[in-house]
Amino acid sequence: MRPGLIARAADWLWPPECPVSRVRVDTHGRFAAGAWGRLSFIADPQCIRCGRPFPYPGGTMSGALDTCAPCIARPPRYDRARAPLAYDEAVKPLVLALKNNDRRDMLAACARWMAVAAGDLLQPGSLLVPVPLHWRRLMQRRYNQSALLARALGRETGLEVETGALKRLRATPSQAGRSADGRKRNVAGAFQVDQVERVRGRHVVLVDDVLTTGATVSACVHQLRRARASGVDVVTLCRVVREEDVTI
Ligand SMILES: [Zn+2]
Repeated sequence: MRPGLIARAADWLWPPECPVSRVRVDTHGRFAAGAWGRLSFIADPQCIRCGRPFPYPGGTMSGALDTCAPCIARPPRYDRARAPLAYDEAVKPLVLALKNNDRRDMLAACARWMAVAAGDLLQPGSLLVPVPLHWRRLMQRRYNQSALLARALGRETGLEVETGALKRLRATPSQAGRSADGRKRNVAGAFQVDQVERVRGRHVVLVDDVLTTGATVSACVHQLRRARASGVDVVTLCRVVREEDVTI
């Protein structure tokens, strides 16, 4: 069967649907026009460390113009983090579709957004490393959405991707519903750099789907720094902006 016919047969069997608006679209991998207005894209001004958008133009009420109050109080382990989207009810179906429904057709669009949001975090020679799943969970799920996003970002930018650089030693229970300290305890010691020679002296960009409290990425960054990465930045598809969304 010719590729065009296969694509048309696939469209008939699995009609292309926008994962945000849940309406039919022309082609797989497209968002419906209405989805754009519902998604909360993060724009400047934002914290230069964690990428949190500032509620006021020109910075926070603390007087610091470029760094948010939580980053001043407790600087994150990573150098900088960026995400194109704020996590909210509108983006949730997209996150779940990537996680559970294997919507690989949406990866290219997500990677384009992530590349734009990341800007100069993505340097020539940067190594893209996804947050890993434990092998048992990978067997159950069949794929790791963070690895798919990292590979898509690699295709978008031409940067090298190393999905095996980090290893998850324990199948940690879900972070959902845990406090910030509970999340830290849950992932403490859960990661290890499996390919030290690939990481040593490299600028690493850690890739994940959602940045919540940062406990998971922090545990990964700690190990990447121990393996002597020259710097570690983080790029995610979306990040929690409102405290009430930390429950995911
Ligand atoms: Zn910050």
